[in-house]
Amino acid sequence: MTNSKAAAGFGTLAVHAGQEPDPTTGAVIPALSLSTTFAQSSAGVHKGYDYSRSGNPTRNAFEVAVAALEKGKYALAFSSGSVTTATVLNMVGQGGHVVSVNDTYGGTFRYFTKVAKRNGVEVDFVDLYDPNNLKKAMKSNTKIVWIETPTNPTLRLVDIQAVADIVHSHPGALLVVDNTFMSPYFQTPLTLGADIVVHSVTKYINGHSDVVMGMAITNSDEIRDELRFLQNSIGGVPSAFDCFLANRGLKTLHLRMKRHEENAMAVSKFLEAHPKVGEVIYPGLASHKQHELAKRQQKGFGGMVAFRLKNGDLDASNKFLSTLKLFALAESLGGVESLAELPAVMTHASLTPEAREALGVTDSLIRLSVGVEDAEDLIADIETGLDAAIP
Ligand SMILES: *Cc1c(COP(=O)(O)O)cnc(C)c1O
Repeated sequence: MTNSKAAAGFGTLAVHAGQEPDPTTGAVIPALSLSTTFAQSSAGVHKGYDYSRSGNPTRNAFEVAVAALEKGKYALAFSSGSVTTATVLNMVGQGGHVVSVNDTYGGTFRYFTKVAKRNGVEVDFVDLYDPNNLKKAMKSNTKIVWIETPTNPTLRLVDIQAVADIVHSHPGALLVVDNTFMSPYFQTPLTLGADIVVHSVTKYINGHSDVVMGMAITNSDEIRDELRFLQNSIGGVPSAFDCFLANRGLKTLHLRMKRHEENAMAVSKFLEAHPKVGEVIYPGLASHKQHELAKRQQKGFGGMVAFRLKNGDLDASNKFLSTLKLFALAESLGGVESLAELPAVMTHASLTPEAREALGVTDSLIRLSVGVEDAEDLIADIETGLDAAIP
């Protein structure tokens, strides 16, 4: 379904897109439609739904809403960000080639290197800090170029427009952008030339750390038809209940993202001025190497911050993390509550030590998902942690 309120502002769309009052009851919130099957008036004649894997009203309402926010015509929901990746990769087929940015999400890296390979898909990883590196990596059988920006956990940016131009000079190649870190509030890659945007809805879109879900968004009828076919055939669809929750979360995305950013900026500035802190990585800081690109490509800088304890080692990092009270020591990101983690030991443990070294994922690198609490409380918590880590 396409949506009729495409001209409205972000907050208006977040609240209203796909959320028509129920024609029979007037309910302003789309019903939680748990039915797996739908009555037909005669064989093959139905009201648009026949079986809940193929289509579900609650899921549909959520898909319409996310499509509107990403400035796409179509969105398809999946049961996780990971199965979204797997389903999109199923477009490639045996003998196809994929180019991926080198510091991609760990689960995506695992899928590319361990699963896609088994299915006869070859994946090359390329440093796209300079987009021109992509030119040498493209092959005649390249079907997908996969990027994330900012990347995880070192928040390096990729110039989406520059990459899209290179991809589209190769017939048959598509650009996929994992937009999980920015959310559509801060970045809409389809408007910069991406063919498909994917999300781990688990993170900012749902925003409350209680749903695992994924989404793919596109403007192309052809891509939509292919992904619909794969979604229905592979069957990695989310439950109606999860769609109901994520749709509820989506309605405050603009409010949350604004606050995530304000807090992340305050935390970054505090860290940058602190004598026990080395490098602070946040695209909103003038010291970020790609601050200009961030300003041009994004509408804001997001809620993720990474920093290094000055002269820190594993022991200091552990002391810091175990002293925090407000920041939970946990993987994942994008929820209302603040989280802290040690990528070298947690999210990026599956990388080889050499790969971690190359990406700058040291034992002193700490990643924060800054939540929507009060900034002064978060800063006080971090200050206590720093005092404990480095006496
Ligand atoms: C979490 C995450 C994924 C995977 O999504 P799941 O919902 O956990 O399967 C993919 N990409 C990024 C950037 C993520 O943060």
